[in-house]
Amino acid sequence: RITMFEDLRDLYQEVIFDHNRNPRNFRIMDNADRKVEGFNPLCGDRLTLFLKMDGDTITDASFQGSGCAISTASVSLMTEIVKGKTEQQAEELFKKFHEMTTGKDENFNLEAVGKLAVLAGVREYPARVKCATLAWHTLDAALKNEQKSISTE
Ligand code: ZN
Repeated sequence: RITMFEDLRDLYQEVIFDHNRNPRNFRIMDNADRKVEGFNPLCGDRLTLFLKMDGDTITDASFQGSGCAISTASVSLMTEIVKGKTEQQAEELFKKFHEMTTGKDENFNLEAVGKLAVLAGVREYPARVKCATLAWHTLDAALKNEQKSISTE
């Protein structure tokens, strides 16, 4: 059982490394409907999130910026997974992602977050939780369309 868990952890790390090396949707979006900057002073992670909306559906998501492997992998995965989702579905995912990374629920169902499960391990490293959630806090601000920049502190 321990071996299975370690195999899974290796797989998760590989996915994180892959997204860090080759971030998906890493580009400026010229015709973005929403653009919000996110900053995590604790680690120095910085990103700009771009969204293209059609009504309440996210039709495209991209980002620019620089940060640690966890923050880069997280925003890369996020831009992939929110494409085609409605605002409500994206907020629902944010809630689940937050539950997963803060680890309050012992019986959290990893299947509920799909590919985002690769970041479940951050809950063992409280200092890295903000690296993983920065992308989502930025998305939340972009969907609410209230702020042009957010900080995790
Ligand atoms: Zn970081």
